[in-house]
Amino acid sequence: MPAFPAAAREALADTQLRRNLAHATGTIRGKRAAVVAEVAEWEELRLAGAAIKDNTLRRLDEHLLTLEAALRARGATVHWARDAREACDVVARIAREHGVDEVVKVKSMATQEIGLNEALAEHGVTAWETDLAELIVQLGDDLPSHILVPAIHRNRAEIREIFRREMATAGRPAPEGLTDDPAELAGAARLHLREKFLRAKMAVSGANFAVAESGTLVVVESEGNGRMCLTLPEVLVSVVGIEKVVPTWSDLDVFLQLLPRSSTGERMNPYTSTWSGTTPGDGPQEMHVVLLDNGRTRALADEIGRQALRCIRCSACLNVCPVYERTGGHAYGSVYPGPIGAILNPLLKGVGVDEQTDSLPYASSLCGACFEACPVRIDIPEVLVHLRSRVVDAQRGGPPKPEAVAMKAASWVLSDARRLGLAERGLSLAHRFGRRVLPGGRRGLSRLPWPGSLWTNARDLPAPPRESFRAWWRREKR
Ligand code: SF4
Repeated sequence: MPAFPAAAREALADTQLRRNLAHATGTIRGKRAAVVAEVAEWEELRLAGAAIKDNTLRRLDEHLLTLEAALRARGATVHWARDAREACDVVARIAREHGVDEVVKVKSMATQEIGLNEALAEHGVTAWETDLAELIVQLGDDLPSHILVPAIHRNRAEIREIFRREMATAGRPAPEGLTDDPAELAGAARLHLREKFLRAKMAVSGANFAVAESGTLVVVESEGNGRMCLTLPEVLVSVVGIEKVVPTWSDLDVFLQLLPRSSTGERMNPYTSTWSGTTPGDGPQEMHVVLLDNGRTRALADEIGRQALRCIRCSACLNVCPVYERTGGHAYGSVYPGPIGAILNPLLKGVGVDEQTDSLPYASSLCGACFEACPVRIDIPEVLVHLRSRVVDAQRGGPPKPEAVAMKAASWVLSDARRLGLAERGLSLAHRFGRRVLPGGRRGLSRLPWPGSLWTNARDLPAPPRESFRAWWRREKR
């Protein structure tokens, strides 16, 4: 995957993508603002959510052990996975032991993060996504581009084409004469998926939360497909990031108020499923929980960055981000796009590992809209700046970058009064070339030749003033 600036340039050239994104994020933003405004104590809820997450993270080891004991007591098998490989191996082994060659999946970021579908395919097991947007992405052989609405970059006409072209290759074909009416598209997906729900012996899910005191996993969703996966198959495997734990049910109460309003702009999500272990004769008879680290303890060790582990994956930060709205999610090269992706990926993987990950903390204008929208008050701009400094530290030592050379030159000029005076004289000459009028009426320079063009290709460069402050001071004193 190319670094963010290269991937973003490609995305920016796609006008259809920008239109689809602007329409979708604008609609969700409006709905969210309306339902958040209904809650007088919204700020108190945000503070409570942040405090619960912070306190839990501080004693994460204890809460995880409590969760493990409660899950075991209720008949679940608990597996610990240090990384993606270990987690995928556990799920593949369970599938093999039960002789299944297909599983149905509840939408889950954790399983995408670890590349579970691809890993299962290597073992001859097909994983079917059952969330409508995930189904569109899967049938279109595409990548998700939004946390909540993975197919946000597709419009209705494109979805109809994907269904007509691909559904037959994956099971029940699309109905004859399918139009791009949303109800018809949803109906086609329902018929297609129903066959899979009724056939599958094994399901894979994630969890939005895991309540430690009772060993309960929680999934919130809008379509009911999750509930079908969680109740019909005989075997259920849930892959759960270790940061999903909340100590008690009263803690969960806060997040069930914050999440739906922030994500879909609803007062309450249509389906909330909770399950604790197994019950003879009712629902899955075998339950496995894979507790996944995959870089989370690395993020936890970062004193500023650890606040990213509060994230409840609502996607509110994506919908308000001016960078995300123009580039879409694919440019971030990860299942976690947008502002949260720009901090979570480097925190999970570590900085200095590859150029693409190191480019992400720069994928922001630092406008702060993400922090305002975040229901658990993650100060994303603070973490971005912190990670930028870590990227700079990690890249010290190699050949100097143009930016570093420019900074060194600026430092050399600014640290000596005589050199500064000469530079000021040169700048006042440049004033004459400022013929463009910038917003606000200020004069601006045209594009500079390389390497200055690296700056002016994407930014306005105000013309320097006719006279420097020091020259003005000398003249006025006389
Ligand atoms: S960072 Fe905050 S706003 Fe963004 S997805 Fe996570 S919880 Fe939601």
